[in-house]
Amino acid sequence: MAELAWIALGSNLGDRAGYLAAARAALAALPDTALVGASAVEETAPLEGKAQPAYLNQMVLLETALEPRALLHACQEIERAAGRSRGEHWGSRTLDLDIVRYGERVIAEPDLVIPHPGLPRRDFWRRELAELSSHGR
Ligand code: ADP
Ligand code: MG
Repeated sequence: MAELAWIALGSNLGDRAGYLAAARAALAALPDTALVGASAVEETAPLEGKAQPAYLNQMVLLETALEPRALLHACQEIERAAGRSRGEHWGSRTLDLDIVRYGERVIAEPDLVIPHPGLPRRDFWRRELAELSSHGR
């Protein structure tokens, strides 16, 4: 039984729009998964006034039968394929994929927190969720 999952895409290095496009294609190609909505792409300043290039962000809505943890691993694989190196927390990145919501589930594990704890701090995520609300809730 497929559930809805909202994934935030972000990029602030290199061909930002290209990385978002590649991420959309890779998410749509996951097993038992369909991409059923996408917000507009918007440019945002780095969080907390960090000295970094601006981000391009977009939220996509998936219908997926992958469980949250399988989806997280798939997202991390897509980040790696985009050449992301994991170093500095909140550092610049070619591609960041965050699971913002997964159906109505609430998960609080060391490496997986849903809804994403950054939601209250990110107005643009809430705008993008609202933009996608015609697709389910
Ligand atoms: P951030 O997105 O906070 O800037 P990272 O992308 O490097 O930083 O993610 C750090 C860790 O966050 C990942 O290793 C992952 O296990 C964890 N994490 C916890 N909850 C989530 C979630 N809802 N979506 C994506 N990653 C998550
Ligand atoms: Mg992340």
